Amino acid sequence: MKFEVITIFPELIEDYKKISIVARAIKKRLLQIKAFNLRDHTFDAHKTVDGRPYGGGAGMVLKADVLSRAITSVLKKVSKKEKTKVILLTPAGKVFSQKEAKKLAKNDRLIFVSGRYEGFDERISFLVDEEYSIGDYVLMGGELPALVMIETIARFVPGVVGKEESIQGESFSKDGKNSNLLEYPQYTRPEVLKIGKKTLRVPKVLLSGDHRKIEIWRADQAMKKTKKIRPDLINKQW
Ligand code: SAM
Repeated sequence: MKFEVITIFPELIEDYKKISIVARAIKKRLLQIKAFNLRDHTFDAHKTVDGRPYGGGAGMVLKADVLSRAITSVLKKVSKKEKTKVILLTPAGKVFSQKEAKKLAKNDRLIFVSGRYEGFDERISFLVDEEYSIGDYVLMGGELPALVMIETIARFVPGVVGKEESIQGESFSKDGKNSNLLEYPQYTRPEVLKIGKKTLRVPKVLLSGDHRKIEIWRADQAMKKTKKIRPDLINKQW
């Protein structure tokens, strides 16, 4: 699957590509991630990407003419056979979720447009297919939202995450036994852990070797944890 990010800070995206599972998936040609510098598509010697907002107001907005040139140039490289979407990153977009990630993973190519400053000239919305927010808070730029989305979507690309089961029954997933719930608590060695005066043990059932009992315990824990932390998820229709 191919991901492209239009940004004024391409180095943020390029550095991310060098690490861990993503780097391995790129090497195996399961993923391709490219950053495009918005400043390469400007119209003047100063490489101006932003302008003052009409009507006044604080800060600058990214220019629609420059953005349009950048998006068009990236789209020129897309073959007709590739299912492609252009995604604008904005706090005003649809809130990204695990369900949206699964849906977007059905595309061959996603082109992310990341903002900076006070955002974009509104007219850019005519060139994009979807607008996404990664949550109800405001970051300084769209690069981290792009990476958050890329990493989440990439986990649905077959072969990227080692074992296919790793992505089944995870928190927020409808598949698997813990449908819609947060994942059950997990433990690893040591069996007994001492932190200061506290002795913390792994729940006995997990050491029992009885897979049926473990399954029931995990389902119960997932329900308890969700009721406590995210009761809104329990009857949520995805
Ligand atoms: N003035 C804008 C507003 O109030 O909605 C915020 C602009 S923000 C400082 C600059 C850029 O960061 C945005 O254009 C967007 O690309 C990105 N950004 C910030 N928060 C985001 C979020 N929660 N989800 C997606 N993108 C975000």
